[in-house]
Amino acid sequence: MSDDWTDEERQLLDANRKVADVVASVAADCEARRRPPTEAWEAYAASGLKGLLVPKEKGGHAARATLVAMMAEVQGRADPIGALTFMPQEYCIAAIARYGSDPWHDEMLRRLMAAEISTGFVLTEPGAGSDATAIATHAARTDDGWVLNGAKAWVANAPHIDEYFLFAQTNPGSGAKGIAGFLVPRARDGVSIGAPYEMLGGHVASIADLKLTDVRLEAERLVVPPGEGLKAALSAIDMARINVAAMCCGALAVGLQTALDYTTQRHAFGQPVAAFQGMQWQLAEVATDLHAARLVTFDAARRLETEGSAPVEAAHAKKFATRAAMDGLDICMGQMGSNGLKHDSPLPRLFAAAKIAKTLDGSTEIQNIVISRSLLAPYRDRL
Ligand SMILES: Cc1cc2nc3c(=O)[nH]c(=O)nc-3n(C[C@H](O)[C@H](O)[C@H](O)COP(=O)(O)OP(=O)(O)OC[C@H]3O[C@@H](n4cnc5c(N)ncnc54)[C@H](O)[C@@H]3O)c2cc1C
Repeated sequence: MSDDWTDEERQLLDANRKVADVVASVAADCEARRRPPTEAWEAYAASGLKGLLVPKEKGGHAARATLVAMMAEVQGRADPIGALTFMPQEYCIAAIARYGSDPWHDEMLRRLMAAEISTGFVLTEPGAGSDATAIATHAARTDDGWVLNGAKAWVANAPHIDEYFLFAQTNPGSGAKGIAGFLVPRARDGVSIGAPYEMLGGHVASIADLKLTDVRLEAERLVVPPGEGLKAALSAIDMARINVAAMCCGALAVGLQTALDYTTQRHAFGQPVAAFQGMQWQLAEVATDLHAARLVTFDAARRLETEGSAPVEAAHAKKFATRAAMDGLDICMGQMGSNGLKHDSPLPRLFAAAKIAKTLDGSTEIQNIVISRSLLAPYRDRL
């Protein structure tokens, strides 16, 4: 979508492609054995990509949105949920770089960028998903730090993260005004991790609940002060939505290619099934949706890059690309008849990923709220 990459950006794209090759090589095994993609994590740690979104003066790459979207598309071709086990860490690392104000935070940032430790985003709770202001995990101030009590849900990589980037309420009943962000070590007394969820797919991400029972934290483990927590949690939300859209473009491109390869060699009624016009037109619809999904996704990335925020464009991209991927992969699987259902091809895994992507980083309904709010903004006095 862009051919004006700098030499440094080409190196990052190249490093990302090598990581994606590893992701792709283990994706089927990770899903079948419900195991994390440790080989991909090792490749990512060695790739030099850590600190992708951190400013250069803090030792990062300060990658621009179109570049990151391009990397996400390549990862989506390999395994979107596999990529979600390491790419979103970059949003956490960038937020720690932005909000951390203590020398200890700088040291944690250094260790995160050196891949000595890992982190992950912990916001959702059993009783609060889309409405993040309703989180109830309580952080109470003590003389020398904090004590956390509560429960978290849908924590990707829960059993493997060293330091959870976890959001909690410091002043119950105050909504966003009381939310703060902490680094919580997995190994700390009082942290317990549930069994990984059994889901439609995406088992590579080891998603599980966390329970926090009288978890004591030193004062410096507060990274984002009360009142800034929700802003920090959502600071990369436009980029996250664009990247999920880009991953879906990658997944759908694989679907289309797989269907073309299959239908041009599979015969029925004396000819390749791709020779039937009904089949060709289905693939043409998928190709149109893929083309449109890419345009809307990279348009949003370009807007984010130039304007600094692109909430409506990111919402359009996420809504459109996740729907295009799910509907399109359904068609591509159908093109392969019963064989489309078998895990011999990546399509069932990618189809599950597209379904999962619809909920991640704000469901389709939440994107519609963003879009309709902007449509109706000029008419606010009539409503
Ligand atoms: C694979 C995967 C990985 C995840 N990883 C993480 C993670 O690492 N860390 C983390 O914190 N979270 C994670 N999540 C959680 C994810 O962010 C939430 O699931 C998401 O925010 C939706 O919340 P919910 O599931 O509680 O749905 P709910 O908020 O309970 O919504 C239920 C339904 O109601 C709809 N709805 C809600 N509000 C409105 C409204 N105002 N108008 C219209 N419809 C509405 C929703 O669209 C949805 O269809 C992950 C989820 C998945 C699937």
